[in-house]
Amino acid sequence: MTVLATRPDEAMSVAGRLDELRPLLPGAGVDALWVSERANVRYLTGFSGSAGSLLVTSAGALLVTDGRYRTQAAEELDRSGASDVEVSVGGGAEQRQALERAVGASELSRLGLEAESVSWAAMRRMEATLDGVELVATSGLVEGLRQVKDDQELERMAYAAALADAALAEVRPLVRQGSSEREVSFALDTAMRRLGAEDRAFETIVASGPNAAKPHARPTDRLFQAGDAVIVDFGALFDGYRSDMTRTFFVGEVPSGVMGRVLEVVSRAQAAGVGAVRAGVAAGEVDRVCRESITEAGFGEMFEHGTGHGVGLDVHEAPAVGRSSTAILGAGAVITVEPGVYLAGVGGVRVEDTVVVTDGGCRPLTCFPKDPVA
Ligand code: ZN
Ligand code: ZN
Repeated sequence: MTVLATRPDEAMSVAGRLDELRPLLPGAGVDALWVSERANVRYLTGFSGSAGSLLVTSAGALLVTDGRYRTQAAEELDRSGASDVEVSVGGGAEQRQALERAVGASELSRLGLEAESVSWAAMRRMEATLDGVELVATSGLVEGLRQVKDDQELERMAYAAALADAALAEVRPLVRQGSSEREVSFALDTAMRRLGAEDRAFETIVASGPNAAKPHARPTDRLFQAGDAVIVDFGALFDGYRSDMTRTFFVGEVPSGVMGRVLEVVSRAQAAGVGAVRAGVAAGEVDRVCRESITEAGFGEMFEHGTGHGVGLDVHEAPAVGRSSTAILGAGAVITVEPGVYLAGVGGVRVEDTVVVTDGGCRPLTCFPKDPVA
């Protein structure tokens, strides 16, 4: 299968991102920020290791990590244009000393922690280490910057989505009577890897028949039967960025009863939701449009999750696209639109696209056809 997108081969530059973050610090009531959320560290520095935190002060930045990442950290920071970030490598005690020195040198008095990702234990260690510094809970500072993607990020996400499209084109014939959920999910995962994905973006969902009524079902050994709805929800990971797409297929033919009706209702709601996406619109409005369409058709109570979410370095990131989402969509934000209707014990339908918000509307990244029957 061919991947219908250009593979981004140039290293991602993170230059300028720290300077976008710094002006936000006073508004959060802090002099500096201790960035511990992995995706945020990667976003700001290009460092992709599994352990490492970043101190961002008004004038500088210090990445602390352990000995496993000595070479990798130096290489990745260099490649991503973050060579102004200082690196300190060592065990826990050495990392704390490095932090203490950096905090002392910059004479800061209020240090922000990322409240969503710092454990209680880590916070207590910081308190013990940084005598006289006030620790302040912050939320969503880097996540806010990550919402709007630059061209390099969009290229990676488009490529991840194209990898997933090509993998599904290859595996689609397997969605037939007698195949199992596990067989299809394994085939998709391997196809994505073979085509060049680093990994799958998240645990692939293949849910058939009554299992399709569980929005986040794990693949089982269940064999597809004629008339089953099969929900396939999956994505690829490429250079740190993820895609997310759901298609619902029917085995043999679309049944004429309630499931056929559900397919129509969800497909229409999904198209309406995508049609409501535009820069300047509140994320909650996209949810309202999808939900209203489903509710008018009488299935509102069977659509129990939010309409979508942001995607990027994480598969679920800001902005949430739900009933109470007040975030205003910016041009360049990447979100999913994924309404679903689930009939317990019978089946379910979900259709999901990942789209880039533009001034005039949106551009889908996930392009696999929505035909329910091959
Ligand atoms: Zn999904
Ligand atoms: Zn999703």
